[in-house]
Amino acid sequence: MTNIGVDQVMTVTGPIDPSELGVTLMHEHLYIDLFKISGRYDAAGMIDDDDLIAEEVSLFKAEGGRSIVELTLPGIGRAPERLKAISERTGVQIVMGSGWYREPYYPAEDRIDRRTVDDIATELIDEIENGWRDTGIRPGVIGEIGIDKNWVSAQEERVLRACGRAQVATGLYLNTHAVRGGGLAQLAVLLEEGVDLSRVVIGHADSYPLLDYHLGILDAGATVAFDNIGDPRLHEGRVLRLLLDLLERGFREQIVLSHDVCYDHSLTAYGGKGYVYLQREFIPKLIEAGVGEDTVQVMTVDNPRRLITRRGRSTRIPR
Ligand SMILES: [Zn+2]
Repeated sequence: MTNIGVDQVMTVTGPIDPSELGVTLMHEHLYIDLFKISGRYDAAGMIDDDDLIAEEVSLFKAEGGRSIVELTLPGIGRAPERLKAISERTGVQIVMGSGWYREPYYPAEDRIDRRTVDDIATELIDEIENGWRDTGIRPGVIGEIGIDKNWVSAQEERVLRACGRAQVATGLYLNTHAVRGGGLAQLAVLLEEGVDLSRVVIGHADSYPLLDYHLGILDAGATVAFDNIGDPRLHEGRVLRLLLDLLERGFREQIVLSHDVCYDHSLTAYGGKGYVYLQREFIPKLIEAGVGEDTVQVMTVDNPRRLITRRGRSTRIPR
């Protein structure tokens, strides 16, 4: 059992020095399947094709990309060993997520409704310290921890508290999933658990491009994720204007960028924007709008490195 020290970064192939992270996509999916839950009509999910995914990841590398944070969780298709294989095959470093996604997708066998917050937290801390089951593959982030709607359900609150306690115990950063304004409610719970909000990323903040919502998150010290870049359901002009406004207000150290690829039609092979739209098209638009290269570097390299690098004490749980 290798101990990951504080100030280290954990990838699916083992610990690396934070300086090796380079250009990092902060919220992507290589394997994901939300289709299997009855009574829901969200068809997010991607074809189970290792060769195709390796090709798509290699395109990102060809654009200068070095690392991908993969936030698929158990219950929606997390595949630790396949992530490791893709990483070895492509040379792109992959940071794996951990925790529970949102209530409809909690695996029944995890019995979230019947366990204490501390019991759930202990399970997560054990995985962070010792790896997923007997694979030895360890997560490098807690997330994406979601809410299904824009409020926190009772079970989701239990999970969020447990993840907050695991964050405090391990020093990993925590990435949420929040659409239509749910991020502030998540922050309130995490704050009660003693989480340092500078270690929290509110996911999908660009799905709710209202200035006050973003300022609320930023003023609390958390990071906003513009992680649906390239999604045709987004009004890109509006998102771009908000991003430029936040940069002008001096928040560049609290912004990260990604695509959240989670559909076949998101892949370049299916006519989508893949893991490359940021590098190929969106960043050039930022530059054209007057954003400096240094600011791009802060959002795509420095902020990911600061967040992914483990901080605080390491709690070892012997098995
Ligand atoms: Zn996601």
